[in-house]
Amino acid sequence: MNESEYSCEFKTVVPEMPISSVCVSTNSDLSFLSDLLCMSNSYIKILRIFSYVLRFVNVKKSNVIVSGPLCASELNQAENRLVGMVQREVFSAEIRILQYQKGVLLNSKLKNLNPFLDSDRVLRVGGRLGNSDLPYVSKYPAILPNKHKLTNQIIAYFHLKNLHIGASSLLHCVRERFWPLNGRSLCRKIVHECIACFKAKPVVTSQLMDIVIKEKESFIKCIFVCFVSKAVHIEIVSDLTSEAFIATLKSFFGRRGKCAKLYSDNGKTFVGANLEIKGILKLIKEPDEKLSGFLPAEGIEWKFIPPRAPSFGGLWEAAVKSAKYHLKRIMGSSNLTYEDFLTVCIQIEGILNSRPLCPLSSSADDLNALTPAHFLIGRSMNSIIEPNLTDLSESVLKRWQRVTRLV
Ligand SMILES: [Zn+2]
Repeated sequence: MNESEYSCEFKTVVPEMPISSVCVSTNSDLSFLSDLLCMSNSYIKILRIFSYVLRFVNVKKSNVIVSGPLCASELNQAENRLVGMVQREVFSAEIRILQYQKGVLLNSKLKNLNPFLDSDRVLRVGGRLGNSDLPYVSKYPAILPNKHKLTNQIIAYFHLKNLHIGASSLLHCVRERFWPLNGRSLCRKIVHECIACFKAKPVVTSQLMDIVIKEKESFIKCIFVCFVSKAVHIEIVSDLTSEAFIATLKSFFGRRGKCAKLYSDNGKTFVGANLEIKGILKLIKEPDEKLSGFLPAEGIEWKFIPPRAPSFGGLWEAAVKSAKYHLKRIMGSSNLTYEDFLTVCIQIEGILNSRPLCPLSSSADDLNALTPAHFLIGRSMNSIIEPNLTDLSESVLKRWQRVTRLV
């Protein structure tokens, strides 16, 4: 029907109604995205809302009812769609070019990242890590725009998830999945703007001392640091007696294996424990002693740093400082039960073992930074799980895959 026929018909039905042409232009995708991002400051909450929206759309399309809690694949799909929508908003010119040709224009800010569009239409960093055994999202992290609400929310989510981790380690965690443009200064900004971090770092230190003393009254943390890999192990000791300390040593050796030499502060407890251990060593020679199994015949050499010289124990003093950094930000003035405190301590241990041992590189072609966790389990504690390799036969497994399969 052409316009004259249409207006003719219209006139006959409602003759008194004036005819006017109205042109309405909307961009539903953008308004939906901005509305969605304004719904909450929590990235994971937005992701869950969007996952339910996608589930609803899928149910309407396929007429197959899906119920129950969200699964990991639904959240992954929602994350890809969400990041894709943000990328289409900011990098529309680059995406348009990448649909027809390989590579972006020379004046693009993504030029150095060698970007490409994957099957989910997400713009990812292309690099020379294609043949590496890293998970897909670590090999090709999704590009996030600088100064976008979603980028800020994602970085803030990683900051909170890793118990208020510092800027450099935060960037390392984010780059396991995403590549934020100008990420280093963004991470510094997020840490700087965090209220819990700001409160934990006041100029006046008298309040902090109260918190530390309160911790000491309830539980005592015992921190072991490996001199080779800088890996950290945290145990909770109920009191400062020699018996409790020996029990802690036993559980440490049981989980991490025995060490050749043990260095420690020249504290009162440790001297006492050393005498206790010396006594046990003496008792090992006697056959009827119950505790003789604690130290094997070869023994563990116990060494003390000189008295009143804490600088000799710089390695474990730094680990204690890092552990307190996280603890102050999480606990504040709240009282935790033993189980809660244990969980927090083990979480802190995991985060400290996932800290990069070397400065982060800004090149997209570089592999992930080495962390102490690589020496323990072959990957960072919070890294994405690699694909299941147990179905492959041993002969086709390469050396690295074989190690991954074992750990
Ligand atoms: Zn913080």
